[in-house]
Amino acid sequence: MNEYVARVRENLKRLYAHEPEYLQCVLTWLELIEPAVDDPRYEQTDLLSRMVEPERMFTFLVPWVDDKGVAHTNHGFRAQFNSAIGPYKGGLRFHPSVNPSVVKFLGFEQTYKNALTGLPIGGAGGGADFDPRGKSNREIMRFCQSFMTAMYRYIGADTDVPAGDIGVGAREVGYLYGAYKHLSGRAQSSALTGKGLTYGGSLVRIEAAGYGAVYFLDRMLAHQNDTMQGKRIAISGFGNMSWGVCRKVAQLGGKVVTLSGPDGYIYDPDGITTQEKFDFMVQMRMSGQDKVQAYADKFGVEFHAGKRPWEVPVDVVIPCATQNELDVDDAVRILANDVKYYVEASNMPATTEALKLLRLSPKILTAGAKASGSGGVVVSALEMAQNSVRYSWTHEEVEQRLRDIMNSIYDASAAAAEQYGLGYDLIAGNDIAAFKRIAQAMMAQGL
Ligand code: GLU
Repeated sequence: MNEYVARVRENLKRLYAHEPEYLQCVLTWLELIEPAVDDPRYEQTDLLSRMVEPERMFTFLVPWVDDKGVAHTNHGFRAQFNSAIGPYKGGLRFHPSVNPSVVKFLGFEQTYKNALTGLPIGGAGGGADFDPRGKSNREIMRFCQSFMTAMYRYIGADTDVPAGDIGVGAREVGYLYGAYKHLSGRAQSSALTGKGLTYGGSLVRIEAAGYGAVYFLDRMLAHQNDTMQGKRIAISGFGNMSWGVCRKVAQLGGKVVTLSGPDGYIYDPDGITTQEKFDFMVQMRMSGQDKVQAYADKFGVEFHAGKRPWEVPVDVVIPCATQNELDVDDAVRILANDVKYYVEASNMPATTEALKLLRLSPKILTAGAKASGSGGVVVSALEMAQNSVRYSWTHEEVEQRLRDIMNSIYDASAAAAEQYGLGYDLIAGNDIAAFKRIAQAMMAQGL
């Protein structure tokens, strides 16, 4: 083992013993990039240590008052992870599970995801331990305003550009942007992305997260001389990412047959392929109930309470919900079911052991979220580009660019795997390709 890598690993284990999500993502990454830590200058400039810590991380209180007049105090976080390639860029997550470990893991993943897009963006992650479930519009608005009051000084088009993630969609970005404008006195559109179309948002941004993953899958299918036609696909979640996946899969002739929520999963053998079903997904999300059972009630399909969709025999699995939503038992079941493709859309969806099992199995082809999950941030960067030239591209133009960029991410991942003798290991390939890009940018800029 590379001694420098071993030392960094030991340090991380000591420093982050109490931050499990962060430790998990960074140790997995370190293992995958190890063959590429092949330049003595990395150690001379202690590059790895500088890559595995956020450049800046802050915590703030978010006090707000609910509709009954009761005061609540939540915690907000932002990890401004790496600015080697451009301003910090990454989502905000509003979910009770958000803490410094989760925010650091999101910022880390985002940095490497963003590097592979080839667009000038660094990486960041953030959010709050706020539960949007069952909150009224006004409560959401007040929360977003309080959140932005604490954060607005530290973001901006050339510093840090937040966007959405779990619990933060177009509505929340709207309130956040309104508050940002109010507090800063500037209509600086690219201080946030994922904005609505009426005030600087980009076409295809809402579809992008899901579309990107499906384009990536399409390249893997082509590599196997296969197509989407007739493919049965299991996905998790029912949010924005899942919605985009269902739509693009249907357009390309396949069908998504599962959706899931914290309450269980639904199985729809006909596929989630109609406009009525896509619209119902949006409705379920907007209801704020965070339950998927409503889909089964509405369309008369099976609902499996308390279970994950990975037990359904399909051709492709695309996790679209959250971290560690797939464990070793799930991975074993996926392999036993002869699933052919595993494409990550959500960030770090598999536990360390589950990922290893899938990645090393010759029975299944795998793609990692830092490549196949980058559609959302790709169109965020295109939104920034449009904002800066005060112009909007057409739907076709944005979609074509998204497709081209997803292709270049695929090509870079496959090429790096090949170069390091790793065959068709797209996960190692994407981590190595991104590592090399950031390493070059950091070294060029000195310590
Ligand atoms: N949360 C998204 C992601 O994980 C979007 C980030 C962005 O658009 O900045 O990539």
